[in-house]
Amino acid sequence: MPSNKELTRRDVLALGSSAASAALLGPALAPAAALAQDKTMPQVARRTLGKTGKKVPILLLGGAVGFDLRFDPKIAEALRFGVNYIDAADCYNGGTCEPAVASFHKRIRGRDKLWITSKSDEHDPRGFEATLGTSLKKLETSYIDLYFLHNLEDPKYLNEDLRKVVARAKQAGRLRHFGFSCHSSNVPELLQLAAKTPWVEAVMFRYNFRKYGDKELNRAIDAAYKANVGLIAMKTQGSEAGIRDAWKKFQKKGKWTKHQAVLKAVWADRRIAAAVSHMDNFEKLRQNIAAALDKQSLTQAEWQELDRYAAATRSLACDGCDHICGSAVAAPVRIADTMRFVMYHDVYGEPEKARALFAKLPAQARNLAQVDFAPANRACPYGIDVAAHMKRALHVLAG
Ligand code: SF4
Repeated sequence: MPSNKELTRRDVLALGSSAASAALLGPALAPAAALAQDKTMPQVARRTLGKTGKKVPILLLGGAVGFDLRFDPKIAEALRFGVNYIDAADCYNGGTCEPAVASFHKRIRGRDKLWITSKSDEHDPRGFEATLGTSLKKLETSYIDLYFLHNLEDPKYLNEDLRKVVARAKQAGRLRHFGFSCHSSNVPELLQLAAKTPWVEAVMFRYNFRKYGDKELNRAIDAAYKANVGLIAMKTQGSEAGIRDAWKKFQKKGKWTKHQAVLKAVWADRRIAAAVSHMDNFEKLRQNIAAALDKQSLTQAEWQELDRYAAATRSLACDGCDHICGSAVAAPVRIADTMRFVMYHDVYGEPEKARALFAKLPAQARNLAQVDFAPANRACPYGIDVAAHMKRALHVLAG
């Protein structure tokens, strides 16, 4: 498997479009090539992102992957196919994401060629405003296209004080659009709130093939879509905590690999404007761009395989609902967060990030060794072996 290199001739021809071969005419790594406006280059389709009124590519470049601080060739390669939306955050990759994006746009002298989304971990209005200022500095830009409250859980933060801060920042031209990201168990509640909050223009939320039958979530997506909230899917791979090779249970029934099939499934939902993807090497970038460029939908057999795979791996995928299992144990642990960090370690291959995030949890939440997790195992409606994952967390995160 090639990684960390530009698309090869074979790769691009495999995209299934003769126009794609035009991608090979210039060196992908050169800044000038990143700006080349080659009209014959196949471009990833775009959809309107709700109230922003702007069209964004259906495939978005996740910024948690660790971009090269000097010049990241993956961004350049994505740009050539119209994937010009970078999903950054103040905290991604130890705070280096925003400076890396800054290096890139300065090097190509093309801030206007990129859509930059970033996020604030601070949710109170003053903290949000301060983080926006820091993000602008680190991104070395006078404006951010879309700024999110990052990982929103508590709806109380979408309040009048924040609305005023957002309005002021917009008036000053510091941000163009506002929204939030969320992936906890109350995603439906937050989507319903977004639908009723006119100044929320976009929401990025956890959405993947495991959730297609979820009526509450679907009602919330409908409400947000009807209210013209731009909807972005994240965590589309439905990755499995602690089981690195679980995706191998997927049986390829046609053209698409598991990683491509789950994206095609999200794009089949017209309520969703785009899917953000964690593309930390050129192979993933190549596969995802190929899937985005190709108009062929999933076949019935592929949809059925996704359903079968979801059922077969259900007891490996945590939904983040730790009010259920957390209340079953007599300790203030953070089971869903800890499982997510184990996933970062084992599935995403990001051990340093996983350990750093775990280290930020309160001391009591990190004290896993003395806790009996058997009641959590019994409480989890999906049969997840919480005790085994916490044992794994102790081994790989707490050292
Ligand atoms: S282990 Fe089960 S109950 Fe606990 S957060 Fe994950 S899915 Fe929910």
